Amino acid sequence: MRERRFCWALPVISRKSTALVKEGYWLLGFMATPKIKRDMGKAASLRPAREVTHWDREADVVVVGLGAAGACAAIEASEAGAEVIALERMSGGGGTSALSTGQLYIGGGTPIQKACGFDDTPEEMFKYLMATCGPGEDEAKIRMYCDQSVGHYHWLVEHGVPFKESYYGDGSYTPTDDCLSYSGSEQSYPYCNIAKPAPRGHTVQQDGIEAGAQLMRSLIAAVGKTTVKVQEDSLVKTLVMDDDTRVTGCVVRYEGEEQLIRARKGIVLCAGGFINNRDMVYHYAPELWRCRYRAASDGDDGRGIRMGMGAGGSAKRMETGCIVLPYTVPKILMNGIFVNKRGMRFINEDLYQTTVGEAALLHQEGHVYLICDNECFERPFAPTEIAAVEESVADLEKSLGMPEGVLQNTIEIYNEHAANGDDPIFHKGKQYLQPLTHPPYAALDYRVENSLYTVFTMGGLHTLPTAQVLDPDGEIIPGLYAAGRTTSGLAAQGYSSGLSLADGTFFGRMAGRHLTDRAVPPA
Ligand SMILES: Cc1cc2nc3c(=O)[nH]c(=O)nc-3n(C[C@H](O)[C@H](O)[C@H](O)COP(=O)(O)OP(=O)(O)OC[C@H]3O[C@@H](n4cnc5c(N)ncnc54)[C@H](O)[C@@H]3O)c2cc1C
Repeated sequence: MRERRFCWALPVISRKSTALVKEGYWLLGFMATPKIKRDMGKAASLRPAREVTHWDREADVVVVGLGAAGACAAIEASEAGAEVIALERMSGGGGTSALSTGQLYIGGGTPIQKACGFDDTPEEMFKYLMATCGPGEDEAKIRMYCDQSVGHYHWLVEHGVPFKESYYGDGSYTPTDDCLSYSGSEQSYPYCNIAKPAPRGHTVQQDGIEAGAQLMRSLIAAVGKTTVKVQEDSLVKTLVMDDDTRVTGCVVRYEGEEQLIRARKGIVLCAGGFINNRDMVYHYAPELWRCRYRAASDGDDGRGIRMGMGAGGSAKRMETGCIVLPYTVPKILMNGIFVNKRGMRFINEDLYQTTVGEAALLHQEGHVYLICDNECFERPFAPTEIAAVEESVADLEKSLGMPEGVLQNTIEIYNEHAANGDDPIFHKGKQYLQPLTHPPYAALDYRVENSLYTVFTMGGLHTLPTAQVLDPDGEIIPGLYAAGRTTSGLAAQGYSSGLSLADGTFFGRMAGRHLTDRAVPPA
């Protein structure tokens, strides 16, 4: 049965049709989403190889999912001479990657960073990612990615992904065709003291379509130049494993029939994350479950992760996610202060919006307000309710149900230091420090129930930098690889924009290389 579904995305994304729109896609307002063949079934129940009497198709490498990670895995494996089949459940590739805003976190001294006058080194990038991507950061992956990041940029360009030699400024979203921007907390305390700040967000150049669609148009065109056989409308249901616990193939539903596909060398699971599987989110990541908006396509139902777990794969950091709290546009709002339900500040407001989103949701019960005075108040770009407006801070505190005197005290201390261009408690950047002294005072409502917390999952299968999937004992599962949001990648609770597409494309490539015995650079 075909079912029309739509997915959620940040309100900033495309208002246009995309060239990826083809049969099986339809337009919903500002975005294109594919039809999905829905069959939940049991992904984790393996098919024993001894029960397989025949294979319908076979290849050296079978890639599950044709988003950014899958496309890169397929290209690398094919260019190394492997016979590759790529299976995609939708009627066209692209996945969530095609719906994204197309920014990749790349650094260490790319040609664009140099052309725009920014110095960067793999070491500074490493220091920044090690400081932000934890707790539980994967040092081996971060090391390898930082060392190979410039090479990855060149690989993307060689495969047709366009980047313009231009600097946009700050922010995770680039509404123009410009490329480079600060897409994390590089310039803010404490990270500016840990690593030399450099902009590393590289947004794919838009050309009549949004950057994420352009990224996938380029990568799918690159797949088309190889010998990869793409089979669409093919839902991979589960994996086939032999008695030696080697993954040897998969079970696919194609045109209403079951199809068995053999993978002589291995399978790469690139089937996205699990934010659209509400049961999984409730079970593994209950804080993300509270958020109203999901940045994902329908394919993010966790099937890839469950198939990997069924084959004995270990899952890692499943509670983690990218948590966007979109309050930074217009920038003047960062002159306000975030307070919790007790009226106390908890963070420097100039940090990247996912860092603030994580702090608010995970450490302040998702119950926070942005307090502005008349000087710094403007309507946020992202629809936001106003919880209260009062002529005095004392009245605002009362209206918000805060303990008497706490918000007054918070603002008094903040104002005293801000007047001297200082924030000794949280070290907000000087350019955002302005005493809040002009009534009326407003509290913007950033409680999780009322606001636009937008999330996708970052947890997934535990993999090596080679993209090989590990079991709970840390042993490699022969024949099983994974990349992108089916895995736990570079970032956990410490997302900088661009890291998801960066690790998906990079470790997808590493899977393709390792499967074809091409050297994977040492971690
Ligand atoms: C609006 C928006 C903006 C974003 N902006 C950015 C950004 O600028 N930078 C960034 O880094 N991240 C961004 N993200 C997040 C990012 O897009 C995703 O995390 C990333 O694209 C995941 O890539 P992937 O290759 O792992 O998965 P996907 O691109 O989702 O690809 C997975 C593919 O697998 C297919 N599939 C799933 N299950 C099966 C199955 N069982 N059988 C066969 N096929 C299957 C799916 O249909 C899909 O095509 C954004 C997300 C959204 C929604």
